[in-house]
Amino acid sequence: MRTGVAFSISNEAFVSKADPAICGFSNTFEGTESILFAERNSEVLCYVSSDPTKARATAELDRIDNAGDQFGIPRCCQMHFRKNWEKIRKQGGDLFAPLVHSVAADATARINWQCNSAAMYFGGGLCWHFPCSPSCTETIALVNQRVEQLGSIDPDLTASLVEIQRQEFFLSKDGNYKTCVDFSEMSAIHVVPF
Ligand SMILES: [Zn+2]
Repeated sequence: MRTGVAFSISNEAFVSKADPAICGFSNTFEGTESILFAERNSEVLCYVSSDPTKARATAELDRIDNAGDQFGIPRCCQMHFRKNWEKIRKQGGDLFAPLVHSVAADATARINWQCNSAAMYFGGGLCWHFPCSPSCTETIALVNQRVEQLGSIDPDLTASLVEIQRQEFFLSKDGNYKTCVDFSEMSAIHVVPF
């Protein structure tokens, strides 16, 4: 029987590294092992597709951080990731912070709301990759498309995710993301999605 949905599971298991600086979100794994020896706190990755061959191919490509096309990530942002990920991964994996610093002027960084991938740190959002610029036109088009498609299925969920995308926040000097700052952190960058 054909259900129309196929999935493939990674052959490795991972232990997520919840990072308090990014509100407990996890950009990296702290451990990887064969699925045969996985501990109870491990996770596996599940790739879902309408095409079994695509699900399997995506699992294989993601093992080598090369499944950008399969995930629909714009080529410009894939290039940005490949160029910078190895260095950033060793520092915790927050490739969004350098983008904020690159556009910050007078302690304020203005970023197109569709390119605000930090929304994921605040519990949701619609930008699931690190954009190559604060106004990446490919990312803006992709997120607008998600708003339209998801909006036709669940308008309330879509509205709440857009709200998180547009929420202003602060990035402190030591790389912490917060929705408000105290006086000791006055040098934090105020990030304004617009
Ligand atoms: Zn881009």
